Amino acid sequence: MNRAAALPAALSLSVLLACTGSEAAAPETVTEDMATAADAASAATPAPPPAPTASQAAQTGFTFTGELTQGGYIRGVAPSSAVSAVLGEQPLELAEDGSFFAAFDRDSGPALTLKATLANGRTLEETLTIAPRAWDIERVNVAKGTGGGSEAWWAKREPEWLAIKAAREMETGATGWSQDFIWPVKGRISGRFGRQRIYRGEPGSYHSGLDIAPGAGVAYVAPADGVVVLARTGFSLEGGLIIIDHGAGLNSAFLHSSRIVVTEGQHVKQGEHIGNVGATGRASGPHLHWSLKWNDARLDPLLFVGPQN
Ligand SMILES: [Zn+2]
Repeated sequence: MNRAAALPAALSLSVLLACTGSEAAAPETVTEDMATAADAASAATPAPPPAPTASQAAQTGFTFTGELTQGGYIRGVAPSSAVSAVLGEQPLELAEDGSFFAAFDRDSGPALTLKATLANGRTLEETLTIAPRAWDIERVNVAKGTGGGSEAWWAKREPEWLAIKAAREMETGATGWSQDFIWPVKGRISGRFGRQRIYRGEPGSYHSGLDIAPGAGVAYVAPADGVVVLARTGFSLEGGLIIIDHGAGLNSAFLHSSRIVVTEGQHVKQGEHIGNVGATGRASGPHLHWSLKWNDARLDPLLFVGPQN
């Protein structure tokens, strides 16, 4: 299902919120959290709808904080009279108060446009500069494998792949996207997001998550609130796999579990035990592979949780 179908729910945004305009100058450096920004906007004296002038357009804008870098993300608030917004081509899900989440793929280009359509039909846009990352690239003088599994392998793999795709497209209305994420488990980092091998000039697929190796059997928890959209064992590559939807197009996957203690459809809170670390599926040793996706963009979990201590 296309996420754009969820956007009409956001169309009930108040169009009468006064805009103080002071936050528009340098959005990248705004430090107040979005709750504060939203409260300030709500508390302002309601004003009659402003005439659509050029100066008004200059006074309204997006406010946000986050990591403007490949694999990073922002959380923010859309202009007060926005009825819809997009990042590049991707529609954003605007909450009732205009708050939103947006993120930047591992291979995002250096500039992306954040654009709002206002109630009066005008549009307001802002160019985001996305800093490149120095990914861990290893060039090896070995031919890249053919990558294709046998027909028998694909017969097992295809339904798994379809189940993962369907789970990631589910919309649950979860609001964990707005929280500060916590580590699902702490431990030695055995593999970073984005690492990639180039085989005689031919790129292999990059590492899509963060590997944490606290030891076999160690419990791990939900890094943010969400709804379990997939919880199954025995997947060819992922082994015991949990996928949690955090809402707004953001979801987490947890691979190689030795044990899963949640069921599909279950609502989980941040910090709640969901599974245990293992080496099921294609894994060279016990570890938790944690990946984060926002729509089609793959994100760096490390940017959501910061240092371990
Ligand atoms: Zn991994």
